[in-house]
Amino acid sequence: MFNLRKDILANRVILVTGAGDGIGKEAAVSFAEHGAQVILLGRTIKKLEKVYDQICQIGAQEPAIVQLDLETLDEATSEQLKETIQDNCGKLDVLLHNAAILGTRVPLENYDSKEWASVIQTNLTSVFVLTKALLPLLKKSVDGRIIFTNSSVGKTPRAYWGAYSVSKFALTGFAKILSEELENTAKVVVTSVNPGATRTSMRRSAYPGEDPRKIKNVKTLMPLYLYLAGPDSRHEHGKEFSGNQQTWDWANRIKGPR
Ligand code: NAP
Repeated sequence: MFNLRKDILANRVILVTGAGDGIGKEAAVSFAEHGAQVILLGRTIKKLEKVYDQICQIGAQEPAIVQLDLETLDEATSEQLKETIQDNCGKLDVLLHNAAILGTRVPLENYDSKEWASVIQTNLTSVFVLTKALLPLLKKSVDGRIIFTNSSVGKTPRAYWGAYSVSKFALTGFAKILSEELENTAKVVVTSVNPGATRTSMRRSAYPGEDPRKIKNVKTLMPLYLYLAGPDSRHEHGKEFSGNQQTWDWANRIKGPR
């Protein structure tokens, strides 16, 4: 779709959460297509294997699969993951926090407490636990990145979006705190993306009556994700990006010979 520098992510090891579907799947394939060694993290092994096959079929570097349920992620498992990445890949350069669940859209007074805990654990607490465990590896990278995935309902409160909206509000704060803490201490660039309305199964379940053809394809987001995961975004620390804008701008920034 876009003619981008094929080697823009050469020699980078990138972990993508929620790599089995939607935006995470497309990002993982796109990262691999542009030279990265990708670690596919997700909960449904069949979906991860399909992405693995897709990446191998395009002749990109063989990815790794990590089947893990973020809803039950604890510190010990995250530490184990860090050791596994260190042992098998030697390093980690980019962490894309992408996985999330929507939860039910109901008034807060009717929100089920178990579901509340599940959404907060998946969308927020696992991000903290994973970031904490993997930060030492990312700090060792010569050009580290942490990319958070936000949402419009993490900026403007929206009735009935309950725990999902609250988790995304908290992520906005989390990314800001982390970027301030890393400002003068590490070469890890922290950014956030609000993808905006994108044609995925999450979008379909949020807006079942919507005509999906009117919603942008995940592919249009890829220049932005490639830009943020790649070497040209070194100066973007602490910034937030919208997937609804400037697709061609991002594409132009990473086009052509190096
Ligand atoms: P999606 O199609 O539903 O994909 C989400 C991915 O996250 C799936 O692969 C899913 O795994 C994985 N995941 C969910 N819970 C998990 C868990 N407990 N452990 C491990 N993996 C888990 O969603 P999407 O639309 O691509 O959304 C990706 C990100 O963009 C999310 O952070 C979302 O909030 C954000 N976003 C999306 C839109 C949009 O319009 N699509 C707009 C704003 C923000 P399974 O495949 O196994 O279910």
